[in-house]
Amino acid sequence: MVTQRLYYKDAYRIEFDANVLRSIPGHKDTIGIILDRTCFYPTSGGQPCDTGTLDSQPVFDVLEQDGEIVHWIAGKLQSTSVHGRINWPRRFDHMQQHTGQHILSQAFLRVLKAQTVSFHLGEESSTIDLDRSTLEASEAEAVQDLANEVVFADRVVVAKFVTPEEFSALELRKSPAVEKDIRIVQIEGFDGSPCGGTHCSRTGQIGPIAIRKHERRSQETRVEFLCGWRALRDHRWKTRAINELALAFSVKDMELPEAVFRLMQEATENRRELHRLRDELLHIEAAKLLGKATPWKDTRVVLRAFDEREPQQVRKLASFVVECEKAIALLGISGTQARLIFACSKDSPIDVAILLKGTCLHFGGNGGGQPHLAQGGGFPGDKVGEALEWAYQTLTAKRKGKKNA
Ligand SMILES: [Zn+2]
Repeated sequence: MVTQRLYYKDAYRIEFDANVLRSIPGHKDTIGIILDRTCFYPTSGGQPCDTGTLDSQPVFDVLEQDGEIVHWIAGKLQSTSVHGRINWPRRFDHMQQHTGQHILSQAFLRVLKAQTVSFHLGEESSTIDLDRSTLEASEAEAVQDLANEVVFADRVVVAKFVTPEEFSALELRKSPAVEKDIRIVQIEGFDGSPCGGTHCSRTGQIGPIAIRKHERRSQETRVEFLCGWRALRDHRWKTRAINELALAFSVKDMELPEAVFRLMQEATENRRELHRLRDELLHIEAAKLLGKATPWKDTRVVLRAFDEREPQQVRKLASFVVECEKAIALLGISGTQARLIFACSKDSPIDVAILLKGTCLHFGGNGGGQPHLAQGGGFPGDKVGEALEWAYQTLTAKRKGKKNA
């Protein structure tokens, strides 16, 4: 049996009495209740369901099944006749968003000839998808202006079922999804469209209609919007955020974007300057290390272990050390895990990748790289000093060996 939908006639009705026709067992202890009549709107047409109570049982979901409306509750009903009550703030919020959507869709059609292809009423914001891939900010503002003019004009909104004759005489924004029992929602002198949802009775009740943002989605544009209380709440947190930021930046609210962009530019310049100064310091450090390097024939070998230092800095330091002729850098960082960075100048006959790999393997780790720059680790950090000494001995022994050969 088809459930009588009391919201069709009166979207403002929040209480009703009804008879339980039957119930369906659901998941775990949930039960689906089917009544002869209801004020509860089921999730459909892009609009989420109402919530509320049946006697004292909370209704957490409402769905439509073959003309019947199923009210999902988590407990049992004590009687076959029940008193239902819907959550009014939630219902009114949905009415504001949904009626606002009708106006916004018609405004897009009038201003930009853009058709709405789908609508979704979300928990926080709602969206419509338009049949065009572009939308300029000025176009969105013109649409928003027209939509709010209709709100401020406080036009009458009528929802009614029409006969086939009445239907054929109507000029509608879109075609109905059903063939019979067509319900039309008309906004006086502005819009007419088939719809089974819940709407405000006058446009003034919608409150402000605000487009929050829009984005291209393939050949369509998704427009996110807020109506009524949602628009006010959005305005409120944004105003608070902007005022706090303006105070922090010591500028007027209107000057905030400029102040932020200026700060971002300064930050980029500061970062660049910081890198330059760091490199300068690393060059000085590299020169100092070379001054204290161990001479080995015509080559200077820099042997140095650091505690907890950024590998990137040490890598750079190694490359600065070997910028001069005939230099080798055997650097390491201790910590929980050892890290070795070996480098040699371009004129050096040494392959530091082979030396580094051999050293790491000897201490239970691994590594590799290019003949002039290599890195590795993977063994305990407290072995770094020992590993560098081992590498140095191997290096010098090899050179002796080569010479003797
Ligand atoms: Zn509607």
